Amino acid sequence: MRNVKKMKADVVVVGSGPGGSTVARDLTLKGKKVILVEWGKDNKPTGTMIAASKYMGGLSGFGKGMMITPEFVMMIRCITLGGTTLMYLGSAFDPPYDTFAKYGIDLDPEETAGIKRELKIQPFPDEFFGDGAKAIMASARDLGYDWNKLNKFVDPAKGKPTVKEFYFGCKSGAKWQARDWALEAVRKGAVLLTGTFCDEVIVENKVATGIRATGPGGQPYEISADKVVVSSGGVGSPTILQRSGIYDAGKKFFFDPFVITYGYLDRRLPEEIPMAGGVHLKSDGLFITDMSTPWSMYAYYAASKMKLLRMFKTRGLVSLMTKVSDDLDGLISVTGGITKPLTFNDKHKLNMGRAISRKILMNAGAKDIWYSLNAAAHPGGTCRIGDIVNSDLETQFKNLFVVDGSVIPEPWGLPPVLTIISLARRLSKHLAAS
Ligand SMILES: Cc1cc2nc3c(=O)[nH]c(=O)nc-3n(C[C@H](O)[C@H](O)[C@H](O)COP(=O)(O)OP(=O)(O)OC[C@H]3O[C@@H](n4cnc5c(N)ncnc54)[C@H](O)[C@@H]3O)c2cc1C
Repeated sequence: MRNVKKMKADVVVVGSGPGGSTVARDLTLKGKKVILVEWGKDNKPTGTMIAASKYMGGLSGFGKGMMITPEFVMMIRCITLGGTTLMYLGSAFDPPYDTFAKYGIDLDPEETAGIKRELKIQPFPDEFFGDGAKAIMASARDLGYDWNKLNKFVDPAKGKPTVKEFYFGCKSGAKWQARDWALEAVRKGAVLLTGTFCDEVIVENKVATGIRATGPGGQPYEISADKVVVSSGGVGSPTILQRSGIYDAGKKFFFDPFVITYGYLDRRLPEEIPMAGGVHLKSDGLFITDMSTPWSMYAYYAASKMKLLRMFKTRGLVSLMTKVSDDLDGLISVTGGITKPLTFNDKHKLNMGRAISRKILMNAGAKDIWYSLNAAAHPGGTCRIGDIVNSDLETQFKNLFVVDGSVIPEPWGLPPVLTIISLARRLSKHLAAS
């Protein structure tokens, strides 16, 4: 048996998605000794399918990076430095301030505005808009929808990312990825352990004093720290908490199920980038956006609906994604398995989204409309504020904090990365002051 490697830090951060990388960077810049522990490897963002399969855990990723519920809803997360931002589509939405205020979380709009300035968050410039996105916007507006350009985590001065760079990792750096901040933390002195899985938090007399982890080759680690921050995502964080004695974590969650509606315009359309514009129908719990995908993903969706001939029909292809705010339900098991039935409400919302998307596409002149299988991408609410963590994001164990999608207290139905960064910045300030 290998000797346990012992390390010590002011703060140990587990997981390098937007939550973990923000805390690691902010606290390192404030002079704290930080150790950042990440299960995945540092896979370079190359914009290729091969890279994407590595982000999802490679051949062994099935059931880890790519999960399927018993109802055949597929959900993706990334196990790699930077977490799921390696494959996110870079859309930025301000946090739901009122929701957080109900739970005693005073998220400051000025702080979020500062993050937006720092990361150059803004809508795509007009020249980034594809003809398909323009046609969809015109059609939606014609039908009376308040369809607007979306804010993006994209710095246009660094160039226009390709559609593959959105889905499979952005090598130009134009799309912000949490990996950027993890690496900045390392340059400023943080210690990064990749390929290292956090098994549990060490708790003595209801106080967290560090973590136990397993590194490459089965190397056991014991890292002691004054503060432990778990940022392992909507699926990862509740499993760590369960293994550490917080058994209610992972009971009931949301995962923002979505469906893609495809159609074909009667003209050639060059490749375009996703989520340029959209509409949030808040009272219906729906968000609809243009959604171009690389051919490989389109072909996967067509094949999974047994539309084998459609796989090669790409002329004039236009598509819309409807994402819905789903009911809290289901369970994350201690090993990260997910069970999540779609409720009557969830199915009704998905149906409404299909109908509205169909209307918008048909009004734009699209034909041969069809729908993908349901999928999901934003697991959250598994360590809810007010339930598993308090308004300081601290658990029932002193000095054990959680910050990532798992703490979002209510289903919201919108992409959460800007919210997670805002929460992480607030936590960093709290920890730096304590
Ligand atoms: C295709 C797709 C498109 C998306 N588009 C958008 C978008 O446009 N805008 C938006 O805001 N959101 C988008 N999202 C969602 C967004 O990417 C995630 O919600 C966000 O990354 C979640 O952040 P997180 O910190 O909670 O978790 P993650 O980003 O998943 O990070 C968690 C990290 O913890 C690590 N980890 C897990 N368990 C352990 C362990 N035991 N030990 C050590 N490390 C561990 C993981 O490897 C991972 O790196 C998209 C998601 C997908 C899949």
